[in-house]
Amino acid sequence: MNDLLIERTSSAYTYPLLIKNLLAYPVVNNPDQEIVYRDQLRFDYRTLRERICRLANALTKLGVKAGDTVAVMDWDSHRYLECFFAVPMIGAVLHTINVRLSPDQILYTIDNAEDDVILVHSDFLPTLDAIKGRIDTVHDYVLLCDEQVQPETHVPLCGEYEALLANASTEFDFPDLDEHTRATTFYTTGTTGMPKGVYFSHRQLVLHTLGALAAIGTPKTQGRLHQQDVYMPITPMFHVHAWGLPYVATALGVKQVYPGRYAPELLLNLIKEEDVTFSHCVPTILHMLLSHPDVESVDLSRWKVIIGGAAMPQSLCLAALKLGIDIFTGYGMSETCPIVALAHVPEDQLDKPLEEQVEIRCKTGRAIPLVGMHIVDEEMNPVPADGESTGEIVLRAPWLTQGYLKDNHNSEQLWRGGYLHTGDVANQGPNGYFKITDRAKDVIKIAGEWVSSLELEDLIAQHATVSEVAVIGLPDDKWGERPLALVVPGESEPNEKELVSFVKSFVDSGRLTRHAMMLKVLVVDEIDKTSVGKIDKKVLRKKHL
Ligand code: AMP
Repeated sequence: MNDLLIERTSSAYTYPLLIKNLLAYPVVNNPDQEIVYRDQLRFDYRTLRERICRLANALTKLGVKAGDTVAVMDWDSHRYLECFFAVPMIGAVLHTINVRLSPDQILYTIDNAEDDVILVHSDFLPTLDAIKGRIDTVHDYVLLCDEQVQPETHVPLCGEYEALLANASTEFDFPDLDEHTRATTFYTTGTTGMPKGVYFSHRQLVLHTLGALAAIGTPKTQGRLHQQDVYMPITPMFHVHAWGLPYVATALGVKQVYPGRYAPELLLNLIKEEDVTFSHCVPTILHMLLSHPDVESVDLSRWKVIIGGAAMPQSLCLAALKLGIDIFTGYGMSETCPIVALAHVPEDQLDKPLEEQVEIRCKTGRAIPLVGMHIVDEEMNPVPADGESTGEIVLRAPWLTQGYLKDNHNSEQLWRGGYLHTGDVANQGPNGYFKITDRAKDVIKIAGEWVSSLELEDLIAQHATVSEVAVIGLPDDKWGERPLALVVPGESEPNEKELVSFVKSFVDSGRLTRHAMMLKVLVVDEIDKTSVGKIDKKVLRKKHL
């Protein structure tokens, strides 16, 4: 028995770390601050709180109760932000559906998460139509739309979001839940098979919010998020809660701008008209924005941008810096809530020429508060932080997923030895900065979305012209990576056009996401193998990239 364990006075309140507590500060201290949706809607934090209560009441009326799962298919919107709060605050789980998965994969995630209600934007009704009759758990579908038109669909909609909110009360007595209650779930496309569900509790989301706030909110100048900033995510809200930043921005009470479906002109216009000063996105999106002709008419010199989801190319970083953008890298993964590292530039290096700053801004970053980030070899021995020796990044932090939903085998694999294994290979310099140099996991990231190389290999191998195939990620300035299939000929000479159209047939049937069609093909005589006869991707990458 430990005498120092704190004894609780019977009437003392043990404050649980709950998402509802993140909302209390801005509503009291910044009630007039605005939430903006495209060029269509704006309201203040007072109204945000009321709308969250209305949504909680509307969901309750639909029969949603603690322990149920409410799923969302929407672009980045004020509605999504409201769901980020209302759904977990009533004790239900928010499933943020990855709308870029193939219909079959989406169906799998709906089944696996056991969704009870789906809130669906009219743009995604065709996806649900494609899997109609195969969804077993959902009892209600709520329509999200930007225009007052009745969509043509077979989905049995029970009502429209705004109409349901209009009829609901602006007060809701949110319960004091156990802080370990599951708040969110979403799916990551793994190396093989169907997507894997990760999940986070109220406590984890609150601690992630505070950890990220401590890291982003405290540098003296560079890359600092503060009360006067205007925040706009350019990361899908289904992707790790838009990297958790909507929770951070709301907790701070800053003005927030939600852009809906991404279109370069609209995004640039919102930056200009709403004075957006803080965003985050994958490199592909920034590349798209900077290549757009409108970029010349927008002053980007007050814009701070975290680039994550993939390594930032130095050329992109330099181009952004030359436009005055304060750009730097963030690192994390779906399993990590996600932020675990940021590549802020130390204050004493900010007067260095831009060309020299690029190196540090493109590193993977330093661990943020409360994150234990280590590089280890295959036996879990530490690798020296000499800027050269490489090993796998393993992690401990209070906000890492505790496993994969209903998947013991992969959960144990993820957490072997008591550390979360990232599958990312990196070195660490004496200054604490990590730099990812390779990937141990067999996946390709195209425009921020995973495509499993193993699945592509399986499917391509079925083509008559293919005797053997290995797929690796080919670095690409625009897309981040594209799949490169190294093919040993079968019955006849394989050709790229035929193989891409073969892959398209699996996209059309819902098996693969459309990103798989970015395939490039290279015919080779043989494919290198390891000593145990496995395809040696390390050697193939060295040879062909
Ligand atoms: P996801 O689970 O889709 O968020 O993907 C996480 C993975 O993206 C990581 O494990 C890395 O492989 C990659 N990634 C994320 N951020 C970075 C970064 N800053 N540099 C290089 N790779 C990154």
